[in-house]
Amino acid sequence: MLKINKNFLKSEEIFSDEIAYIASYIINTLFLILHIFLEIYYVVIAANWMVKLNIISLILGILNFCLIKCEKTKLFVNVLFYEVMIHVTIATLCFGWDCGFQDFHIAIIVLVFFGNYFSQKMGHNDVHPLKFCVLDIIAYIFSFLWFNWFEEIYSISSRLQKYTQLLSAFVVFFIVIVFMWILTQFTVRVEEAMNKKAQFDELTQLPNRYYLMAHFKQLMTKDNGQDNYLAIMDIDDFKKVNDTYGHNCGDYVLKEIACLITKYSKGGFVCRWGGEEFIILGSVEIDMKNQCRILNDIRKFVGNHDFKYEEYKFNITITMGVAVYEQGQSVEEWVNVADKKLYAGKYSGKNKLVF
Ligand code: GH3
Ligand code: MG
Ligand code: MG
Repeated sequence: MLKINKNFLKSEEIFSDEIAYIASYIINTLFLILHIFLEIYYVVIAANWMVKLNIISLILGILNFCLIKCEKTKLFVNVLFYEVMIHVTIATLCFGWDCGFQDFHIAIIVLVFFGNYFSQKMGHNDVHPLKFCVLDIIAYIFSFLWFNWFEEIYSISSRLQKYTQLLSAFVVFFIVIVFMWILTQFTVRVEEAMNKKAQFDELTQLPNRYYLMAHFKQLMTKDNGQDNYLAIMDIDDFKKVNDTYGHNCGDYVLKEIACLITKYSKGGFVCRWGGEEFIILGSVEIDMKNQCRILNDIRKFVGNHDFKYEEYKFNITITMGVAVYEQGQSVEEWVNVADKKLYAGKYSGKNKLVF
């Protein structure tokens, strides 16, 4: 029978403030490292204006750590974006189109969408990707048109231009690959968590109707479903519990009954079908007569259990309808057969098992 992993229910939120801090620190550190290498490069080729511009970029990079620490995320994203875009544009104008600095405009777009995704998941909506994309493309076209009228400021050897172009392309590849990889990992993890959350009941921690529907075939002990039974149970007069002791007490009863059924169902698959209805799906142990005896014992255990909530003490009964699987039935048809028996039990006095 299918094993249910409920650990995810205890796992912390995928997107926490801590993750956002760490991601911001890592991105800023990567850019500082890049600027340190650029400083060495500019000094070696004696590009004095770029040495000075890069010092401003380094100072902004250090200031960005303060912005992250002070939780000024929006300002941090803006400073980072404008700094990178202006630096890339000026570097392109200084060293020429053949050095490939303009390729960084593509990396900027990836970073903008990365920032946008994270900020949305964190519940903020302060990164507007289209605004940044438009500015980025304008800067790219501007740099391209510039060389129709002007020459690059620093003339460097064509060999060095080629190596610079190759290096720029590799850094851009690195940024695109790493950030797209992180983005897909997060998307997959979020989808998995959402899927699992949708298939489990928050209150009782039991699998729900959608889980049973999705895993129906795997839950059967044999491929054709032979010798499987389904018991649907409904709490008797549950509305009265809510009306008399309050909704919180009703929730307590649902949790308590979920525990009792799970405890006594001896390995059967237990799920919360809806409101105050639960389902046990299992395989017939010896014969159906004995199986019904076991299920009837569950009904008695629940009936004899003393429910205690705050100053209240009371008893609860349940009614069950049981049906054996018939080949070719869908889960809905199977539940329907059991449901009819459950209602026969309700109409004939409640607190009973009908097979
Ligand atoms: P019967 O014996 O015929 O089943 O009567 P009943 O009162 O149990 O059935 P009814 O369908 O009239 O009422 C079911 C109630 O279950 C109504 C609804 O408010 C309550 N309920 C459903 N889900 C929850 C829940 O998650 N928590 C609480 N506290 N109540 C719930
Ligand atoms: Mg009901
Ligand atoms: Mg009921």
